[in-house]
This record gives sequence, structure tokens and C-alpha cells, in this order.
Amino acid sequence: MYTIWTTKQVLQFAKPGDEVVLRGWVYRKREFRDKIFVLLRDGEGVVQLVFAKDRPEVYDIAAKLNIESSIIVKGVVKEEQRAPGGKEVHVSDVIWFFVGEPFPINPSAAQADSEYLLDVRHLWIRSRKMWAVLRIRHTVFEAIHEYFRSRGFYEVQCPIFVSAAVEGGATLFPVKYFDREDVYLTQSAQFYLEALIYSLEKVYTVAPSFRAEPSRTRRHLTEFWHAEAEMAWARLHDVMNVCEELITHVVRKVLDERLEELSILGRDTEKLERVKPPFPRVLYDEAIEMLQKMGFNVKWGDDLGADEERALMQKFDTPIHLYGFPEEVKAFYHKNDPQDPKRTLSVDVLAPEGYGEIIGGGERIEDPDELVRKIKKFGLRPEDYYWYIDLRKYGSVPHAGFGLGVDRLVMWICGLDHIRDAVPFPRDIRRVKP
Ligand code: ATP
Ligand code: MG
Repeated sequence: MYTIWTTKQVLQFAKPGDEVVLRGWVYRKREFRDKIFVLLRDGEGVVQLVFAKDRPEVYDIAAKLNIESSIIVKGVVKEEQRAPGGKEVHVSDVIWFFVGEPFPINPSAAQADSEYLLDVRHLWIRSRKMWAVLRIRHTVFEAIHEYFRSRGFYEVQCPIFVSAAVEGGATLFPVKYFDREDVYLTQSAQFYLEALIYSLEKVYTVAPSFRAEPSRTRRHLTEFWHAEAEMAWARLHDVMNVCEELITHVVRKVLDERLEELSILGRDTEKLERVKPPFPRVLYDEAIEMLQKMGFNVKWGDDLGADEERALMQKFDTPIHLYGFPEEVKAFYHKNDPQDPKRTLSVDVLAPEGYGEIIGGGERIEDPDELVRKIKKFGLRPEDYYWYIDLRKYGSVPHAGFGLGVDRLVMWICGLDHIRDAVPFPRDIRRVKP
């Protein structure tokens, strides 16, 4: 038997003259004079392999290998400044290999047709770009759990099959559920989290949410990952504090652990270094004024779309809290500001560099009569929300929470143009394959 070295271990620890066994996939291959150079890729990185013609038993195999063929080799480490990482492995034995068919993605054509790359997504996830994004995504999820658990939040799991809308009926996905016609995929776990605070006080969940988003934008998927939290006894400023600490923690961890991946993506990390609490707190009214000055045709009471958010976020180089939205642009459960009842105690966190909304949150209505009044005002039926209203009848307390779009966070941290590149197998209005 033999010990397998990862590419990373070879680059970090192997000394010239060491004999190592490596396994992985052919990332690049080129012939030069009497040698074949193969860049071997594994889960951790790449190492250059050298197959010399004077060893025909290995050279002839290398000659047959395609891009993405798999192989296990034994060889001797040498220093080589021109190789990635400054080392290469001169192959003495091929222990195992699988040639397979010619790989259909041609690296030089790769960027040309993004629809094609989405068709072959099951293969494209092997690319360096997707490799880097997926590793950053891994760290983002880890950091989210780390943050909540270290701050006394309990992790809970909520149902995916639901029977009432959280974010409004227009984006509900109906599900064929036996003979019923009132079952949907969840848009948000919020109502269940609100129920759970009466047991655990501070709760969070990281789970998929589903929204039948009719428009194709750069920041909407039909299935996205949602990190949501609710806190008993909390106010708007508590939500802002938790959100900015959470985002700072995630960005910090990615900067500490994923610099190589960020550099593969060409990310300007100085922009991420600026992410530190406190984030600027911008009242909705100020944002409207700023947008008017920029020439946007908006007035108090309007919702802000992606274009407005992008323009606004050209003015800031860190995330901001945009708070105090009018009642009519926020869902019915948002609590109105007792000092100024036409606005809600709500906040969106917008990411800089034009990325826009990544979090929506705020205080929830705690009074049962007020809740029923707003449900009716929004044209909804209180009986559809009976259990949500029930929560206000027994020991109701002020509480608040938020939902973070994890894919949007990954998109911004990675500096991607489109949210679907933040996800291994994206779903949108046209695509449910592969
Ligand atoms: P938008 O106005 O951008 O459609 P929203 O206000 O409907 O978002 P919320 O209901 O506040 O979104 O959801 C909380 C967070 O979930 C958002 O801030 C965003 O980061 C994320 N999110 C919402 N819808 C989607 C989606 N379709 N795809 C990806 N992420 C989403
Ligand atoms: Mg929102």
C-alpha cells in the first residue's frame, strides 16, 4: 500500500527527492520536446506532473489522457520555479488511470456562451472559477453557523411544505400534495421562527426558500438559501447590530481562510477589508432624497428596485442599513413605528459596489388586534394566519428578526456578475436541469 499525498501537501511539505503518490484529474496537458506536462487537479489544488519519453510505460499512458481523465501516479518531487507552486513531480509509475471521453468544455471557449456552461453545469463545477466559489461558499455557511451558535442562538428546522404565504401570494409555488390545493413550498421560515422564540428565545435556521420570481434578474433565483433569525425582546437596533456583526464575521473569515480563492476570482480584497461595524444607518427618506438628486423619478412611498439600490450603493463603500420603510412597501407583519405610524420599524442591509439588498428584517407586530388590522388592510384573510395570530395571544413580547440571502452574500463577497454563479446548480424561471 501507499500513502496518498494531496497536491497541497506536496507543495507545502514535500522535499526535493521525496517519492509521493498523488491522485486526481487532468486539468491541463501539453507536450514539449520529449516530455508531457500534466497539471493534476485534486480537491485542494494543482501540481505539475512530468512524463518523460524515456519512460515509455508512463509516457504512453500520458499521451492517451484527455482533459479531466483521472489518474493515480507515483513520482519524485523536484524543484521547478516555472511550475505552479515551485515544484513538480516526475512520474515513475502510473498506478491507475481512466481515460474516458474527450471533455466537452474547451477552456478557451469557456466564457463565450454562458447558456452552454449552464447546460453542462454538472461538468463546469470542476472549473477553477466554480471551485473557488464553492470553497468560499463553504466558508460562508460555516461562518454563519459559527456566528449564531457563538451568540446563543439555537438552530432549528422548519417545514418546507406550508399552507400560507409569508412574502405574498404572487411568488408562491403550489405543490401537488395528495388531494389538497392549498399547499406551497416555503418562501421563508419566519413565522415558524417567531413561534419558536417562545420556546428558545433566540433561534436561527439556514434552509432553502422558494419564490416563483417571474422576472429574470441578476439577483433572483427561484430556490435560494436563506439564513433567518428571530429574537424575543429585540428591537430594530438589535437587528442592525446582529446583522452587521454577522456580515463582518463572515467577510473576516473568508478573508482569513480563502485568499487564494478570492485571488482566482480576481476579487479586490481591499473592498472587503473595509467591512467593519458600525455600518452607516440611512433613513429611507434620506435615500429617496439622494436618489432624487441623482435624477431618479422616485417619491416617498415608492419601493426601491435593483436599479435604485445600485445607484444608491455607488455612494457607499461598505454595507449600509437602510431603515424606516413606508408601511405599504413592506409585508403586513412589519411593526409600524409608534412615533411615525406611516413607516415601519424595518431595515434592509444593502451591499456596496452596486450589489444592493442582501438582508431584510425588522420588528414584528406583537399586538393581536394590530396584527389582524394589518392582515385585513393588506387584503388577506385572518383565518389563513390563525396560528400566527395565536402567538400574540399568549405571552406576546416585542421581537424582531431578519432574513439573509446567502447566495447574494456569496455573490457579493466573490464579486460575481450573476447570482447563479454563486450556486452549484442554480434554479431560475427557465432552468431546473441539471
Ligand atoms: P427583493 O426585493 O430583492 O426581491 P425581497 O425583499 O423580496 O428581495 P426578502 O423577503 O426581504 O426579499 O428576503 C430576505 C432576503 O432573501 C433578501 O434580502 C435577499 O437577500 C434574499 N432573497 C429574496 N428573494 C430572493 C431570490 N429570489 N433569490 C435569491 N435571494 C433572495
Ligand atoms: Mg426585502
